[in-house]
Amino acid sequence: MKSLPFLKAPRRRMTQPAETVAIIVAAGRGARAGAGGPKQYRPLAGEAVLARTARAFLDHPGVSAVRVIIHADDGELYRQAMAGLNSHRKLMPPVTGGKERQDSVRLGLESLEDAAPVIVLIHDAARPFIDAPTISRVIDAARAHGGAIAALPVFDTLKKSDGAARPAIADTLSREGLWRAQTPQGFRFEAILSAHRAVAGEALTDDAAVAERAGIKVALVAGSPDNMKITQAEDFGMAEILLGRKKEMMEFRTGHGFDVHEFEDGTAVILCGVSIPHGKKLKGHSDADAGMHALTDAILGAIGAGDIGDHFPPSEAKWKGAPSRIFLEKARDLVTEKGGTITHCDVTLICEAPKIGPHRALMRAALAEILAISIDRVSVKATTTEQLGFTGRREGIAALATASVRLPLSD
Ligand code: MG
Repeated sequence: MKSLPFLKAPRRRMTQPAETVAIIVAAGRGARAGAGGPKQYRPLAGEAVLARTARAFLDHPGVSAVRVIIHADDGELYRQAMAGLNSHRKLMPPVTGGKERQDSVRLGLESLEDAAPVIVLIHDAARPFIDAPTISRVIDAARAHGGAIAALPVFDTLKKSDGAARPAIADTLSREGLWRAQTPQGFRFEAILSAHRAVAGEALTDDAAVAERAGIKVALVAGSPDNMKITQAEDFGMAEILLGRKKEMMEFRTGHGFDVHEFEDGTAVILCGVSIPHGKKLKGHSDADAGMHALTDAILGAIGAGDIGDHFPPSEAKWKGAPSRIFLEKARDLVTEKGGTITHCDVTLICEAPKIGPHRALMRAALAEILAISIDRVSVKATTTEQLGFTGRREGIAALATASVRLPLSD
């Protein structure tokens, strides 16, 4: 497992270990879902179920890495399904599972032993509608209690059948205190790994049952009614309807941002994360990346979350000389916490010099990496002001940005 350096030294959190790793269990054969191959690889509105599920965790700011457990025969299916996510920095190589679900989870946990995350989330590949708030609730409760699962209270009246070929009711059960278990299920890593080792070879139906055997306290936190498990062929129809309804319940927002920094003596300017050799530098409390500051304000504007100064007061000494990516990461994480997605951003840099053109591709790549979106959703442009005004007199650089964000409709 020495091949996972990013887990031990993640670029964003240099001093912390891999905090929370999500294991996605995708090794099942899905016999109940009929013909057409394992259900987790089948398309749902054009995208594989597994890719949708994995993206929910990859995009979540509280998840440091994602590992998928696959069946030994599914390497090619995995490769095809995950093609669009392969370059994601949080995605670990898949590992092969075992005969039963419980074996697969245990093998997944064993594969993380060297990485030693603090918390591990275990999630079914066939639950593609998992949302960011539910993931956050499970992480927080697992940290606090040692274990936690997403679950929903039972509201239907429960009947026990007599077991006959044409069943009739034998009894009516009390639903008092009953919950339906969903995933993700989150645990402290060391504890759930030893719990799984202790019951290896049995066939418990979820990881909470494994934890209960080991005496780990497992909290129940609110799941989501949308967090359905695609089990039978007809569930795909329901999932498509759900997906359509979710799309209808999204709204698009746009925000804009503007920033200016003055030149002072120096040797390079930093713009949109790229250092450009220049006879001057930009003056500022942080690294003075006007492009990234304008974009951060645009994203914050789109979600109504104030501006960069609200989140990083210049009066606080700790932001002195800070790399501006932390501002942009904060804005990105706030969007994710609202269940939103950044769909597009466009930055215009205004200066006579340095020349931006040769650096545009790198700038787009740097912004796309930080925002965890594809590069075709990021635009960087440049213009001059025909030698007019402060930018024309080469006194400083101005930057404009817009950001478009898709958010769940709120009342
Ligand atoms: Mg600024």
